[in-house]
Parts: sequence; C-alpha cells; structure tokens
Amino acid sequence: MADHSDCIFCKIASGKIPSARVWSSDDAVAFLDVSPLAEGHTLLIPRRHFTDLRDVPADVLARILSVAPKLVGALMNATGATGVNVLQNTGASAGQAVFHLHFHFIPRVEGDGLGFRWNAGSYPSGRADEVLAAVTAAMV
Ligand code: 5GP
Ligand code: ZN
Repeated sequence: MADHSDCIFCKIASGKIPSARVWSSDDAVAFLDVSPLAEGHTLLIPRRHFTDLRDVPADVLARILSVAPKLVGALMNATGATGVNVLQNTGASAGQAVFHLHFHFIPRVEGDGLGFRWNAGSYPSGRADEVLAAVTAAMV
C-alpha cells in the first residue's frame, strides 16, 4: 500500500493537523480553505487518500458528494452568497497543488471579481467530430 504519511489532507482528515472543520462523516470531511478565494470557501475531501478523480471508485465519490446539496445551501445561507462554484482540479496543469482529491466550494456574489470566466474557443471545421470519436473510444 502506498505511503501517504506526508499528505497534508490525510493529516487534516485524521485530525493530526488542525483545520476549521465544517462537517464530517465516515467517508468525508469538509473544512475551510486556509487561503480562501471568498469567505466560506470550503474544501470537501475523502478520508481515504485518492490522488484525483481518476482513482476514486464511483460509489465512494457518490458518498463524498452526497453532502453537496446541504453544503451549498449552508454556505449560501451563512455567507449571503447568491451562488457557489464547485471546482475540482485534477492534475498540476489544471491547478492542482494538493494531490489528495478535493472539491472546492466557493461562495459567489455578483461583481465579486473572482473571474472564473474562461475564454471559450471554437472547433475548426471537422475537428469536433475527431475529438468526439477519440473521447467516446476512450470511454469504453
Ligand atoms: P488545489 O490547487 O490543489 O485545487 O487546492 C488546494 C487548496 O488547499 C488551496 O486552495 C489551498 O489554499 C488549500 N490548502 C493547502 N494547504 C492547506 C492547509 O493546510 N489547510 C487548509 N485548510 N487548506 C489548505
Ligand atoms: Zn492524502
């Protein structure tokens, strides 16, 4: 079994290092991000170590995320936010810095300037069909 003894989120899950814990269950822990993008920015993590979305079993993922409706509502009620971004970074190129699976819950209000708006592109003629074929083939 791999050694995750240096993993900061394993230590937070087990209580070895402190966190501002919002909620916990047998499968998951939610706590305030130490460097919040907005007040109430919360991280939801599995207690077990998974690196990212590729190695978590689907049934475990479902149990982790089962608190999402309650958590989003609670964050909006508690902070006055009118929206919440749920964000998951898989891979360093996607911004992942801690390699223990986690979901960001980021409270939002109009005009908060957080700038999650991405510049949308477009496919050159025929390229979408090629990409579609590649992805559907990879899904089997
Ligand atoms: P990532 O970029 O990997 O998706 O996000 C990692 C998040 O973990 C960052 O938002 C960062 O602020 C947060 N973080 C890193 N170390 C700690 C910590 O020790 N305690 C808490 N509460 N959050 C942390
Ligand atoms: Zn871990």
